[in-house]
Amino acid sequence: MNITIQTYPFSKPLGWSISRYELFSRCKRAYYFSYYGKYDPDIPMDKIRFLKQITSLHLEIGHTIHHTFETLLRRLQRSCAPVDTARFIQHGQSLYTEAFRTKTFMEEYYDGITLDLSHGLGTIADMLTQFLESDLYEWILSVAKNDSSQWIIEPGGYGETRIQGYKAYCKMDFLLPVDNSVFILDWKSGKKQVEKHSKQLLAYTAAILAENPHLSVEQIVPKIIYVHTDGVETLSTQVTKTDLMDFYTTVEQEHGEMIRYCRDPQENVPREKDAFPLCNLPNICKYCQFREICLDTASTPLLF
Ligand code: SF4
Repeated sequence: MNITIQTYPFSKPLGWSISRYELFSRCKRAYYFSYYGKYDPDIPMDKIRFLKQITSLHLEIGHTIHHTFETLLRRLQRSCAPVDTARFIQHGQSLYTEAFRTKTFMEEYYDGITLDLSHGLGTIADMLTQFLESDLYEWILSVAKNDSSQWIIEPGGYGETRIQGYKAYCKMDFLLPVDNSVFILDWKSGKKQVEKHSKQLLAYTAAILAENPHLSVEQIVPKIIYVHTDGVETLSTQVTKTDLMDFYTTVEQEHGEMIRYCRDPQENVPREKDAFPLCNLPNICKYCQFREICLDTASTPLLF
């Protein structure tokens, strides 16, 4: 079964995505820094760009798991011979070590914590081992032995698509047709968040249907795969036409809310910075990478 993932030429209008709307809902000022930093009249763009790319231990473990699985799946496409577990873990750990060596971590930059590489390496090893020992991996392997030629692994770009005519972004990790169905697997290394992640499953389903009108909603099987140090867990749902209709309405509403913060929606130019208020919620601000350019410096912790 052929699945199409379209590519689109660059266009300026705002594109909806779950993460964009989530940040918009959480803090308008962080949203402004993230998406409209070049319009900031006070802070140099280089500074905003630097803060935007700050990572965290938790994020980097997630990236490592994604990249390692990508390599594993491409390997399975070439050969279904047993994977050398030690080398597989070593590969993941070397990716993590490289990130650890080259990236700026929030914990260090803001909180002055000296990070311990070995802790992350142990976490990566445990997660990868759990995955190789999981029923899910067993199933992927059996599918690969049959036919993996139609697999789509980490499609390039930003996952741009159209949902009911709205420009949107839904980046998927792994698509595999099996018999008459299309499975969409999305890797997560963090906590299970049923409401948020169910919305993601809907978005994936809508994106695939938009570009593959020959498929029906019943043929799409989207799953979130949580990889933890003590096991692998799945969140899946059978999306219905009613769910999709509700989801289309949600996208339209959320897109409309964000558009109201644009002075020029076609060019995606934001309103003035003051139109994007600070949330000023300590529980949110303490995890925000823009603390340095946002909060009163007296309230930010000293680095040394
Ligand atoms: S520090 Fe708080 S108020 Fe400022 S941008 Fe971040 S989340 Fe928003």
